[in-house]
Amino acid sequence: METLRSYLEGRWIDAHGTAETLVNPATEETLCEAPQEGLDLDRAAAHARAVGGARLRAMTFAERAAMLKALSQAIYARRDHLLDLAMLNGGNTRSDAKFDVDGASGTLMAYAELGASLGESRFLVDGDAVSLGRSSRVAGQHLLVPREGVAYHLNAFNFPAWGIAEKAAVALLAGVPVIARPNPVTALVTYEVMKAFVDSGALPEGALGLVTGHHGDLVDRLGPQDVLAFTGSSHTAALLRARPNLAAHAVHTNFEADSLNAAVLGADVERGSDLWQLFLSDVVRDMTQKTGQKCTAIRRVFVPETLVDAVEEDLIERLSTVKVGNPNADGVTMGPVATLAQLKSVRAGIDALVAAGARCALGGSAPVQGLGAPEGRGFFVAPTVLRVDDPGAVSLVHAREVFGPVATLIGYDGSAGAAAAAVRLGQGGLVTTLYSDDKRFLTEATLGVAAWHGRVCVASSKVVGAWMGPGVALPQLLHGGPGRAGGGEELGGLRGLGLYLQRVAVQGFGPWVEQLSAGGKRAG
Ligand code: NAP
Repeated sequence: METLRSYLEGRWIDAHGTAETLVNPATEETLCEAPQEGLDLDRAAAHARAVGGARLRAMTFAERAAMLKALSQAIYARRDHLLDLAMLNGGNTRSDAKFDVDGASGTLMAYAELGASLGESRFLVDGDAVSLGRSSRVAGQHLLVPREGVAYHLNAFNFPAWGIAEKAAVALLAGVPVIARPNPVTALVTYEVMKAFVDSGALPEGALGLVTGHHGDLVDRLGPQDVLAFTGSSHTAALLRARPNLAAHAVHTNFEADSLNAAVLGADVERGSDLWQLFLSDVVRDMTQKTGQKCTAIRRVFVPETLVDAVEEDLIERLSTVKVGNPNADGVTMGPVATLAQLKSVRAGIDALVAAGARCALGGSAPVQGLGAPEGRGFFVAPTVLRVDDPGAVSLVHAREVFGPVATLIGYDGSAGAAAAAVRLGQGGLVTTLYSDDKRFLTEATLGVAAWHGRVCVASSKVVGAWMGPGVALPQLLHGGPGRAGGGEELGGLRGLGLYLQRVAVQGFGPWVEQLSAGGKRAG
């Protein structure tokens, strides 16, 4: 059986001892093992800071961009193999697998292009110089320079390719070395991505490490120049955030956690119209793509009371065509959830929402025999639509993320104020989407939810045909959200580099400050 290795200090290293067993979630067959013990992450971090950091900082933005381009191409060159592995280890359909793998190469390429536009500089210039005092002899200028530590990236199970790539793209472009640690349960894809990176020869020694073993206590050993970037559940985020070491050393952190993302249908949208169909397509895609295991997936669907029966009927009609089963079997359109733990968690989540008062309109927590899967095997869940009468009826729908193909239809009175208030019950989210052609409704609802989100998507008839839905975290736009969503900010073009750069105000003799700043590139 294949054993996953880790890549640290510029070489492949074997862990040993207790191992995580990686399985095919459609058949429960064992695929490989990831031993968890024996890695010296403290030493690896020291190597990354000393060797990787120095090498990256010596490179210009253009050189770092060329490295990212090569990493993107390395993924693309092994695309078919990676897609196969994502189907095997993640329960992904081929289309789900492309979402992850192409998202990884696409994000690296997007940052390669951004980096190329920054040219031969090694730091960024932030804003204009300001004259200080009465004469222009003394001036001040803000610069953004790479931190001299290591970035420890902790990633969730659901995007094993995109997860490592999107975080590493930003950190490496900033000039900061990375140690990436995926959730081992789906790390087969990440491992193969890392092999492609290493084989490309594009990585300077110490620039990027991969841990497929235990995460150890590196969080407790990070120092004042280091960065912790976490993606995962709100529960783990809260535990990590409370670690005294992070406060003691003012470690820069970013937390991307879970979110009860919302879709809001406006009262003006007519049944059967193009916008109605777009809304239904978005809900169905988010429920079924990656079997609902996307942090951005729509979980709460707010519909005017007068339309909610019609939406329920149309949604069920569409979801009834979903074929749940082994992604390798013909005709299957939705795979299993990724792990047994995930299956238990989704079933428990459905049961808890029903016990709290939600009505199950489709699906439920009962076992499902997947098409093309061995009898009684595989972690399958039926697409599940729950329904509650109004936003105040079942408070748990605003608090419990069921990380699977599950969404709840919730009636509201059709006003923008009520919609915004209902969305805000989620306590901070990654993305909310509004569907309407009523400009006043859209403006009031957008501004009513804006402070509670990292992204607001506004779908009107004008965007039909050009719409990509709310589920895609784009490199150009912010990914993250306040409150429950973790309070983080990732991507967003050059904004994402902020986590890895120190803003410093340089104050001195005006012409000298100007000369120093000329070596940098103006951001934005
Ligand atoms: P998780 O259980 O919270 O774990 C996330 C990662 O943290 C895993 O790699 C986990 O590995 C690691 N971890 C846990 N405790 C740790 C500790 N004490 N020190 C260091 N690392 C630790 O989440 P998950 O089940 O992998 O992912 C699903 C969740 O992620 C969902 O709630 C989803 O909404 C969220 N998510 C959010 C985003 C976003 O961008 N906002 C994106 C994707 C997913 P071990 O289990 O091995 O400890």
